[in-house]
Amino acid sequence: VEAGDFARRVDELSRQPTRRCFHCHKCTAGCPVATEMAHGPDRLLQLIHLGQEDLVLGSDDIWLCLACETCGTRCPNDIHLAPVMDALRRLSLARSTPPAQPRLALFHHLFLDIVRTRGRMHEAGLMAAYKLRSGDLLGDAAAGTRLFLKGKIPLRAGVARPGEMLRRVFATPTAERRQR
Ligand code: SF4
Ligand code: SF4
Repeated sequence: VEAGDFARRVDELSRQPTRRCFHCHKCTAGCPVATEMAHGPDRLLQLIHLGQEDLVLGSDDIWLCLACETCGTRCPNDIHLAPVMDALRRLSLARSTPPAQPRLALFHHLFLDIVRTRGRMHEAGLMAAYKLRSGDLLGDAAAGTRLFLKGKIPLRAGVARPGEMLRRVFATPTAERRQR
């Protein structure tokens, strides 16, 4: 695989002009989770352009992105890393090897599944499904209890039928939604 092929696929899927990056580091300097990442946003772009597909798609970094858009607002070249990370996660899930952060991948999947079927989030349902599917029954128990006691995790699920707009959101690839 040529180095450029991987970068081209990422650019197409994310609809971001990552080749414009001149590595000024502004995105990484503002990224709230860069200190937790092995590479950080701008080095990930460098690795993409060097064709380091296995290293990038097998990296924890792509699962740590919070999609906060700080990088996009700081970038002098108008490159948004959130859709790039989305594209990388999709490419990672399409591979036969398991994702670097299977629990985060599971959390993403369950979160979207609840919104798709219920039309809105139900935190208690998400927590229960995540705990059962991940087997991590006791992790974050103290934080979960505090949130529950503060009424942040209501047990009753609100009713909101998924409307036409939500159906369209799920039918449209992420990158296309961001263009609108
Ligand atoms: S801010 Fe933009 S140009 Fe600068 S390193 Fe990040 S992506 Fe590249
Ligand atoms: S969108 Fe992701 S990569 Fe960009 S600043 Fe936020 S967490 Fe970091």
